[in-house]
Amino acid sequence: MRYYLDPFGCAKNQVDAENMMAHLGNAGWSMAEDAADADIIIVNSCGFIESAKRESINAVLGWRKLYPRVKILLAGCLAQRYEKELTESLPEADGFFGIDDVTKIVEKVGQWGIGECNSDNAISSRIYSGSSNNDSYSRPLLSLPGSAYVKISEGCDNRCTFCAIPLIRGPLHCRTVPDIVEECKGLVARGIKELCIIGQDIGSYRSGESELPELLNAIAELTGNFWVRLLYIHPDHFPLPILDLMQNDPRFLPYFDIPFQHGSSKILSAMNRRGTAETYIALVETIRAKLPTAIIRTTFLAGFPGETEADFASLLDFQEKLRPDWLGCFTYSREEGTPAYTLSGKVPKKIAAQRQHEVEERQIQITEKNMDRFVGQKLHVLLEEQFSGENEEADDDENLWLGRLYCHAPEVDGTAVITGTGSMEPKAGDILPCKVIARRGFDLEVRLL
Ligand code: SF4
Repeated sequence: MRYYLDPFGCAKNQVDAENMMAHLGNAGWSMAEDAADADIIIVNSCGFIESAKRESINAVLGWRKLYPRVKILLAGCLAQRYEKELTESLPEADGFFGIDDVTKIVEKVGQWGIGECNSDNAISSRIYSGSSNNDSYSRPLLSLPGSAYVKISEGCDNRCTFCAIPLIRGPLHCRTVPDIVEECKGLVARGIKELCIIGQDIGSYRSGESELPELLNAIAELTGNFWVRLLYIHPDHFPLPILDLMQNDPRFLPYFDIPFQHGSSKILSAMNRRGTAETYIALVETIRAKLPTAIIRTTFLAGFPGETEADFASLLDFQEKLRPDWLGCFTYSREEGTPAYTLSGKVPKKIAAQRQHEVEERQIQITEKNMDRFVGQKLHVLLEEQFSGENEEADDDENLWLGRLYCHAPEVDGTAVITGTGSMEPKAGDILPCKVIARRGFDLEVRLL
């Protein structure tokens, strides 16, 4: 009873995979390091945009070719969105398993009669009733040491016209404050040093009378030396009171991931966003005035239907005024079932890609300049892994580690390269004081103090 997991997609999908792993483990399944040793291969798919869908389908095809007799389960967002169509068009997959209730994973794989599946009640009785479930006590974590994602909500009510997420994950539903705090407490007790709070839009969080500020205040009641990092806040309802908490409690990192998407009022309105470039700049100015060390990460979408050269110029102008520390630029993906699917004014893929490239090129200098401000600063670094490859810059007698500072979210931003650990024996998952010595491209070189 061994499974191999091939994970795709975002942090929300990762948490679903971790919960599946918890349930499988509780029923006697173990994870195979190598797909060759597995009874089933689980492809935990992403179905957000065209390129992500293709990637997950190619994974199924690739595994089928390598292992003709192993059962392959296509799980995750793609299975949720297209189960009916894929049942006919993707015979290489033996089964499909959406995201409605990941607690049913043991039942699902049990249908194939592999091994004997034990009752999973011990875990399911502790799981909240949403479509994303957490076993905060024993859930295996797929993040690098020291960090964990805490999913506080599922689905989204914002209805941005380009986005398929509400079709896949449904309307917003939020976990309760005590449930989330209990999970955070359990993770901290397990030695987790960074709690990354996630949801499709955590700014929309609401449970009873509590919104995001109340939730964070409840997490702040926990004792211990840990970081709280907030990921994905929609700019149209940014909860300003969280800035006060960040001012008063340094464990809440001044890191803001706000997907602005565009700088043209016409395009923003067509995306069903209420803000304008001006209101978004004003928001970032408010954040930076209150928290001068704030890091701004954002995403832009190039090539939305109707985007003219003038609209694109507005996007570039917005980028220049915003000067975000980190930026991911994507091209528009026409997704059936979304309101934007029927919009006229299609932008050719080639032009969208050129615009994406131009945004990315301009961002290189902005990010490098922004990162320069850290050189010479004394900060803290979360150690993640010891560097094992060949590295010409590392002295022979020095240990080289990789980690992250508060300005680096997991996986998406640059990294901290830690040199000069000398006779120290740091461990992955430690948060240690350090000094930034230099910038290397987007990365920062730091020395432990
Ligand atoms: S806020 Fe994010 S997840 Fe929600 S509809 Fe808009 S883009 Fe999609």
